[in-house]
Amino acid sequence: MSKHTDPAELARETLKVLGERGLTPTPEHYASVFHELGGGKEAASAVSAPNWSALIRDLLRQLEMTHKGVTLTRKKEGLEVVLSRFASKPEVMSEKLNGLMRSWGSGAAAPDLAPAALPETAAATPAAVVAATPTAAAATPTAKSDGQDLLKQLRELLAQSLETSLSSHPELSDDIQRLVIVTRTTDDPAKINELAKQLRQFWLKLELRGGDKVKIQEGLLRLLRLLVDNVSELVADDEWMQGQVTALQTIISQPMDKHAIADAERNLRDAIIKQSSLKQSLTDAKTTLKSLMTTFIDRLGNLTESTGEYHQKIAGYSQQISKADNLTLLGHILEDVMHDTRIIQASALRSHEELLNTKKQADEAEERIKALEQELMQVSELVREDQLTGALNRRGLDETLDRELKRADRNKAKLCVALLDIDNFKKLNDSLGHQVGDRALTHLTQVIKDTLRPTDAVGRYGGEEFVIILPDTDLQAGVEALQRLQRDLTKKFFLHNNERILVTFSAGVALRGENEDQEDLLGRADKAMYQAKQTGKNRVVSAS
Ligand code: GH3
Ligand code: MG
Ligand code: MG
Repeated sequence: MSKHTDPAELARETLKVLGERGLTPTPEHYASVFHELGGGKEAASAVSAPNWSALIRDLLRQLEMTHKGVTLTRKKEGLEVVLSRFASKPEVMSEKLNGLMRSWGSGAAAPDLAPAALPETAAATPAAVVAATPTAAAATPTAKSDGQDLLKQLRELLAQSLETSLSSHPELSDDIQRLVIVTRTTDDPAKINELAKQLRQFWLKLELRGGDKVKIQEGLLRLLRLLVDNVSELVADDEWMQGQVTALQTIISQPMDKHAIADAERNLRDAIIKQSSLKQSLTDAKTTLKSLMTTFIDRLGNLTESTGEYHQKIAGYSQQISKADNLTLLGHILEDVMHDTRIIQASALRSHEELLNTKKQADEAEERIKALEQELMQVSELVREDQLTGALNRRGLDETLDRELKRADRNKAKLCVALLDIDNFKKLNDSLGHQVGDRALTHLTQVIKDTLRPTDAVGRYGGEEFVIILPDTDLQAGVEALQRLQRDLTKKFFLHNNERILVTFSAGVALRGENEDQEDLLGRADKAMYQAKQTGKNRVVSAS
């Protein structure tokens, strides 16, 4: 067998021979094959001892550096694991520490630190294998003292890291200082495990503090919610502002789900952009109208001025005419009159045309303003709509019902409210899936909108519950409207994979009593709906 001088080559060869001979990779086997191939203990010592000062400098620098996705706590934990696991194997430790730093750089978990992957003997690289053999360690007494030095320096490093957390957690200063002292004074490897345990408990405590921060965030969110609720009351008249507030309320009323918040935020941003641009166009159109009206009035002023002057001149001419005693003079006066008349005629004609033109532009600007106002209202309505079905959402429903109740009061008109709940909807969801359920809700909303009068309104009251507002409707007509809806649903099937699925509902209809408020009215409709469910479903019951 040939002798090898390159340590890496020698280590590779050692591994190969171990495999060929079917030997288990124990340190003793490594050492004996290694010596056999390398020609003696000298070869082992040819493998250079780790450069501790460079390593520690590197470690200090890497600890302070920011690594994406790796917190200081995680770095310390990794460090602690390596320090305690390899306390008695300084050479292995150097390789592990290098591996740990590499893992910080890549943002990945250090593969060597997974408990299952922690080897009893180092097998990271052939060079490390060679350096880890007890013979190799014994052959280099400096490595041992270097190892102790390293341990000491690492303990110091750990102590300093702990001290840096004093400023961010002054309330834990007693704990920190105690740990710092223990870290600096523990040089017995057997006691290091005890220290590790205490450190783990300390980091757990730090994490619990993090939990407090989450509670504070939730508290702040509740405060924000309260604030938003009140702001909406303060600006109840401003349609634009209210649109934003409603959207904001939707965002914060949902669970703190990252995606839901991002979705809602995007919707809000879209609504704000659309509304702002509409507002700007509206302002521009209004400015145009104002300037047109000013021109209009200016022109009118010019006209009266010039005709006034003309009248004065004509009056003057008639005086001159009455006094004129010769034909030549009269001829001159007439020439003057003709001249002035032509001027005023031209001016009047011009002014008339300009006036017509200005009036046309003013009419157009007014039309545009109306269209823009309408569009702005529609965009503001959007945030009052349920995103899935396009029915009114709870907020929209509240506002509409409030408005209709006031209108009914003013006109002394009858008004009905119906509350309907889909029958056996859970079964539909369970058998066909939630998405099909969602489409069924949208289908029902469309059929309701198609069936009812344009003045009626539909809102989503809850998951599969809807409220229909029927203005100018007495109880009998209200019940009939809901029965018509039931019939329409048997004709306008909900299709899934070309299969007809019959959606039915149970409904309660309540006629609004004198001065009855929203809550009582809906409460009675709900009771009637419950009765419809109890008595067989797919029914419409009028509330008492
Ligand atoms: P009942 O006839 O007594 O009303 O029975 P039900 O199954 O319709 O009533 P239940 O209240 O037990 O179930 C309502 C179901 O509606 C439960 C819930 O999963 C489902 N649901 C609520 N909101 C939505 C939604 O937005 N989409 C879908 N697909 N399902 C929803
Ligand atoms: Mg229900
Ligand atoms: Mg139901």
